[in-house]
Amino acid sequence: MTDYKAPLRDMRFVLNEVIGLEDHYQSLGLTDITSDLIDSILEEGARFSETALAPINRNGDEEGVKFDNGVVTTPKGFKEAYKQYCENGWASITAPADFGGQDLPNSLATPFHEMTMSSNLSWRSYPGLTEGAILAIEKHASDELKSTYMEKMVEGTWSGTMCLTEPQAGTDLGMLRTKAAPNADGSYAITGTKIFITGGEHDLSDNIVHLVLATLPDAPKGSKGISLFIVPKFLPDADGQPGERNTVACGSVEHKMGIKASATCVLNFEEAKGWIVGGPQQGLACMFTMMNDARFQVGLQGLGIAEMAFQGALEYAKDRIQTRSLTGIKNPDKVADPIIVHPDVRRMLLTQKALTEGCRMMSYYVSTLLDNERFEKDPAKHKENTALLSFFIPIVKSFLTDVGQETSSLGVQVYGGHGFIREWGMEQLMRDSRILMLYEGTNGIQALDYIRRKLLGDKGATLNGFIDQIGQFCDENSSSKATEKLIATLQTMLVEWKELGTKVMDASQQDPEEIGACSVDFLQYSSYMTLAYFWALMATTAQKQIEAGNTEADFYNSKITTAQFYFDRILPRTETHRRSLLSGADNLMQLDAEHFSF
Ligand SMILES: Cc1cc2nc3c(=O)[nH]c(=O)nc-3n(C[C@H](O)[C@H](O)[C@H](O)COP(=O)(O)OP(=O)(O)OC[C@H]3O[C@@H](n4cnc5c(N)ncnc54)[C@H](O)[C@@H]3O)c2cc1C
Repeated sequence: MTDYKAPLRDMRFVLNEVIGLEDHYQSLGLTDITSDLIDSILEEGARFSETALAPINRNGDEEGVKFDNGVVTTPKGFKEAYKQYCENGWASITAPADFGGQDLPNSLATPFHEMTMSSNLSWRSYPGLTEGAILAIEKHASDELKSTYMEKMVEGTWSGTMCLTEPQAGTDLGMLRTKAAPNADGSYAITGTKIFITGGEHDLSDNIVHLVLATLPDAPKGSKGISLFIVPKFLPDADGQPGERNTVACGSVEHKMGIKASATCVLNFEEAKGWIVGGPQQGLACMFTMMNDARFQVGLQGLGIAEMAFQGALEYAKDRIQTRSLTGIKNPDKVADPIIVHPDVRRMLLTQKALTEGCRMMSYYVSTLLDNERFEKDPAKHKENTALLSFFIPIVKSFLTDVGQETSSLGVQVYGGHGFIREWGMEQLMRDSRILMLYEGTNGIQALDYIRRKLLGDKGATLNGFIDQIGQFCDENSSSKATEKLIATLQTMLVEWKELGTKVMDASQQDPEEIGACSVDFLQYSSYMTLAYFWALMATTAQKQIEAGNTEADFYNSKITTAQFYFDRILPRTETHRRSLLSGADNLMQLDAEHFSF
């Protein structure tokens, strides 16, 4: 099994050479973030992920979480790694300074988060949700609630959950049944059952703070009537320490296909004491605060898995010898050549590489938009940034998670039959990554959001603005010999993308069924086009480094070659999506439900 090694060279390329992180921070007034700080976070993050998380990933999968009469025990080593994580200050990296956080920008935390997801996705699920809960509490809770909960959550001694899903209410939260009845002291009695709650019960932290969606008496029906409540596992005592046990209990943990070391819990609330966050019926609005962050994080999980699958497959392909190369013996010292000589194995490896490195570029870029959301002071720029960030969220969530699944499946394939065997680690990646396309809004729901809110919501303004931004980049970079072909292809396809956007909007306005019929294909089309832009950007940067005489020519040439591979062999997938979405809704809707099978 391959040991995880953080891809620091590629991370530095994206952060320092393509994005120019230091300049980005200067422009936001974050002048005390130096290249030394950026580098030390990368180095220390790599050390923690490689030495504390990766070694407990396999046993986490084998052991899973244990459930005994309401008590959940995480696998061996998880508690120690969590303690180390908190003591080293990783829990507080982006959290607000007012509550003991370091208030660092998201783009500094993103590479570290990617590393934790590559090295141990199950483990990462516990602190990941706490970060989202901190955002919601900071923005919407009363000062009293903040002073009770924030510091402990920021230091990681108390963890957070997000309790939305119920047996009858998954995608459609308007069907929630959990109730909140007002108590005389201003608190609420929360009663109901939540399912699939990540980190709903575990032994890593001293207290668990549940953020629960529930409805107040006489609330309007549907999603508009939902409110949000803080419901702690232990009620804080007069000193702010975990006191009396609240009446929320873990009824069971799910037995899952993957992320087996992440506790997925049924939680029963029986008049559990809770406090409202935000106003009555503001629940979904408050949850939306967590949404951009949570969806971005899930996308990043796809990238984390993709990187690990690529590392494993590459190492194996260089080591495994089978048959000779089509063009003759390449390794005369051995009885066969390593499988990396075979074109089909190279197709798989390059697909992994192009998708993984492209998605790294995309997600790190989006992390700078998350920075702008927090630190940009100019109202006009902030507004523009919000629109662009919202536009990107369904792309990152769905495309990167699809990539996680595709690249881990390719990882299994490169290993041949050994990929199917547990000890090599590839099958765990494939199982672990399958959930990513489902939770935090299925990828189908992301596609609907992309069309409804992001395209129709502003009549295509953000999409067309982004296309124009790419067009400008093409105009400015069309003269370089090494990348002119890529740029010319991109320029031609931008015209098609814009036209397609208009057609999707027209069709959707004429027939609402078209929204659902074309959504996944248009989101996929847009994702591949977006990745083409990021590959062109990376290739252009690499070419400039070569021209400047940078000595790492092999690294930069490999970027240009991979960009060419992406344009030649992956970008053509857009044509399938284009034709499919233009075929309309009829071919999906004409068959009666009772005629699907006889
Ligand atoms: C391991 C794991 C961890 C989870 N963690 C959490 C957590 O921490 N907190 C939490 O609250 N929830 C959590 N969930 C729940 C998760 O978010 C839901 O499973 C997910 O939102 C989908 O809901 P559902 O399973 O009820 O599917 P359904 O909503 O029943 O959907 C079934 C299918 O129908 C499709 N569909 C539904 N409606 C539409 C529509 N209008 N148009 C087109 N297609 C549609 C969906 O895309 C999907 O393919 C977790 C789930 C799992 C398995």
